[in-house]
Amino acid sequence: MQNTATPTHCPYCALQCGMNLTPAADGPAGTVVLTERADFPVNRGALCGKGRTAPEVLSSGVRLTSPLVRTGGRLVPATWPEALDRIAGALGSVREEHGPDALGVFGGGGLTNEKAYSLGKFARVVLGTSQIDYNGRFCMSSAAAAGVKAFGLDRGLPFPLEDIPRTGCVILVGSNPAETMPPSLRYFTELRENGGTLIVIDPRRTKTAEQADLHLAPRPGTDLALALGMLHLVVAEGRVDQAYVEERTSGWEEARAAAMAHWPEYVERITGVSVPELREAVRLFCEPEAAMVLTARGPEQQAKGTDTVGAWINLCLATGRAGRPLSGYGCLTGQGNGQGGREHGQKADQLPGYRKLDDPEARRHVAEVWGVDPDALPGPGRSAYELLDALGRDVKALLLMGSNPVVSAPRAAHVEERLRSLDFLAVCDVVLSETAELADVVLPVTQWAEETGTTTNLEGRVLLRRQAITPPEGVRSDLYVLHELAARLGVEKGFPTDAEEVFEELRRASAGGAADYSGITYRRLAEENGVFWPCPAPDPGAGEDGTAPAGEYDGEDAALDAVLPDDDPAREEAALPSDDPAREESALPSEAVAEEIPAPHPGTPRLFLDRFATPDGRARFVPVAHRPSAEEPDDDYPVLLTTGRVVSQYQSGAQTRRVAELNKAAPGPFVELHPRLAARLGAAEGDLLAVQSRRGRAVAPARITTAIRPDTVFMPFHWPGEGRANTLTNPALDPTSRMPEFKVCAVRVETVRAQ
Ligand code: SF4
Repeated sequence: MQNTATPTHCPYCALQCGMNLTPAADGPAGTVVLTERADFPVNRGALCGKGRTAPEVLSSGVRLTSPLVRTGGRLVPATWPEALDRIAGALGSVREEHGPDALGVFGGGGLTNEKAYSLGKFARVVLGTSQIDYNGRFCMSSAAAAGVKAFGLDRGLPFPLEDIPRTGCVILVGSNPAETMPPSLRYFTELRENGGTLIVIDPRRTKTAEQADLHLAPRPGTDLALALGMLHLVVAEGRVDQAYVEERTSGWEEARAAAMAHWPEYVERITGVSVPELREAVRLFCEPEAAMVLTARGPEQQAKGTDTVGAWINLCLATGRAGRPLSGYGCLTGQGNGQGGREHGQKADQLPGYRKLDDPEARRHVAEVWGVDPDALPGPGRSAYELLDALGRDVKALLLMGSNPVVSAPRAAHVEERLRSLDFLAVCDVVLSETAELADVVLPVTQWAEETGTTTNLEGRVLLRRQAITPPEGVRSDLYVLHELAARLGVEKGFPTDAEEVFEELRRASAGGAADYSGITYRRLAEENGVFWPCPAPDPGAGEDGTAPAGEYDGEDAALDAVLPDDDPAREEAALPSDDPAREESALPSEAVAEEIPAPHPGTPRLFLDRFATPDGRARFVPVAHRPSAEEPDDDYPVLLTTGRVVSQYQSGAQTRRVAELNKAAPGPFVELHPRLAARLGAAEGDLLAVQSRRGRAVAPARITTAIRPDTVFMPFHWPGEGRANTLTNPALDPTSRMPEFKVCAVRVETVRAQ
């Protein structure tokens, strides 16, 4: 690799911050110099501590650089051919003895689009199994399900982040960007500087809540009721946007009736949020011309997550806040490629392009791209937790990429036991994660800066993550692994190791689907700093690079016209005559140029401005009602547990726990509790507390703070061992999204050792 700066993106969260990496002139192999990349609009150079220190993992001594094969009970180094032969042999034997559905595949929301696509194809074409899902199921699946129900389409944010500072009010529900994606906080700071208001709904007074104009702290698991109470007040106070409801929605009467059954006083009893607070939230949300609701894992990671998000969407629809400029509902997706990872086929029920696996036309289209018989494609399989729960029983062998469920899955001790009971486990990872430690074969794979690929951030912006350095000797890419395994299992073609080649096929597979990438090319991504999907390649006449015939597309001008404030400079620019020299300067093609050079589809930063993606173009209200969490406190387990993240660790911590600076800042788990609960337990700061649920016990030091409700304790989930929060969590599943209930369960807390 040359010693020049390569613009690329952070490996961690869904913001996908831009950064420049240059191989270090001196220093050990793999060391890089990270510099600011101010041209990427999402973070404008800013990075959090995780992103800033991410290069340390590239050259870390804990990197795996040789395949490991279990021999005599121990993982010992092996050659690549030995390791691949062992995996292919085991998968082939299990398939022969038990059938293809005895083979499982588990992916991750951090895999690039190319890897997610190839993994889904590998499972269905090479293994012939229906048993594939990924850890993104644990992330945003409830928001995705609710979005599809209401709008006919799920894209985390249907508008760019840059719209946030220009709206009038944002309600953040169960989201703490100050810790999960710190550079995004500026959007909310600018919102308030511009006169807008920020409402944060969270059982904890988080760092984000501290910056809010209004913080509501409902009891965990009751935010569905909170949204219904607000909608009740919207109706009672005459704040419904009747014209919008009539023109752009369906199903209002049923949703209205459901909300009217949730009197504010009743909601106050359920949530603990007072009626005056509810009224104030309604006032702040309804008074401005534009407003947004953004959800994250708080409302989504519940056994009623789809309905909870649906209730917030109903509030947006009743007040005319969806599909309008600077307004709408959005989900702040968590994992780096949580958005793209769910679009291209590693989900149990989906094919590339967000196509449904049980749709005959979708099967026909994708099978044609793959060169297989549509009838040979398996149907939908088990969701992530159900797949993990079936290990060692119906599913005998598992291939796992980019995930660490021993730490991140609910009821983690049970999941660990299921993984141990497998006939065969193969794991691809960059370090020996807690899950890799259990494997029969571990393959060391390349990571972000060592390979090229695309990701899709939380805005639906497809990005090119470029290779910046040469990978260490001994590691290979996940695409190489799939290529080699496919060949060993009898499929010689269709699994290229070159990411761009995979992307070219992905474009064809996604063409015509909801998440249409067919007009996006690597060249465009490099030149344009990302492209928002859907971005179709118009037919006929699309060039090899996915360009559209001249004059084919004028939707974005219309959309911009609708969105931009009257005094926005971009509006002036768009209004320039076609021969104005300023237009040339601003890179908007003149008509003459446009005739010569076909204009590519510009991508779609803003969705739903004209119509929703439903058959009739209307958004659908979904009537929902409050119901208790799957597990409520009782005499044996009298306290509520909620789980979440801290600023210096990422997900299961497999990478960030190996970075000295981050470890120093967040060395281990803790139990956050209110002074009143601490007094009842006789606990002081730092005392060891045992937290017991029906699924197990975790032990961690007390952190006492008034920032949490007295009936609730909080634990971050990034660590394994005795402080593993997910030992406690409840795998009760949402009936639609199959999301487990990470965010609320009943526990008993005891002081086990004073400091
Ligand atoms: Fe940005 Fe997220 Fe990376 Fe932090 S972890 S630098 S917020 S992409």
